Amino acid sequence: MTDLEKKYFILVFQEKICTYERIDSLKNWQKGTANKKYRLIDDFYKDELAQELNNEDKTIKDLKIRFQRYQELNNLYNNEERQNIFNEPDEIVNWFVTKNSQCGYCGVSQEELHEIVGLRKGNLTLNGKKKRSKGTLEIERLNPALENGYQFGNIILACPLCNNAKSNLIDETNWRILFVPAMREYYEELLGKDLSNLVPVAGISNVK
Ligand SMILES: [Zn+2]
Repeated sequence: MTDLEKKYFILVFQEKICTYERIDSLKNWQKGTANKKYRLIDDFYKDELAQELNNEDKTIKDLKIRFQRYQELNNLYNNEERQNIFNEPDEIVNWFVTKNSQCGYCGVSQEELHEIVGLRKGNLTLNGKKKRSKGTLEIERLNPALENGYQFGNIILACPLCNNAKSNLIDETNWRILFVPAMREYYEELLGKDLSNLVPVAGISNVK
């Protein structure tokens, strides 16, 4: 990342300076000061990054585009436990791209999951609960026993059914051998057709 990108990333995604209140607290200003001073939050970024913007001949809009995909993934998946992997913006975006929007265990695609949500009248869950209702692929730990488990080499993109069923109760190898074939069969029955992807090749984990 360039100096400008690094500074913007820290400001927006790590320090989360995205509201007038956060600006006031960052600057130790009296409440309401930032709101009076800046018409838009972007005007604050412009001020704060003026030197770097000038050096690199960029605008705030350029930076927004630069981090757009990261922003989407961040909104969808980041939480306290996952902070580690989200501190590496390019790595997490590239990791996601290589996962091809499919479950790393059974191969069901995001599109097929949405199809099932449609067949179930807009909610993947059978009891109408909101959690997991949209059938979004999930970032999970391959080995839940590993300390600080959310790290590259130990994360997998998994469908809600695989993730929920495997949980921290079945290890990866047994899950793949014994349960994935049944999961695929279940999906194919729900969809009334073969799944579009084959079973993905298991990622080789370099984490002991
Ligand atoms: Zn799956």
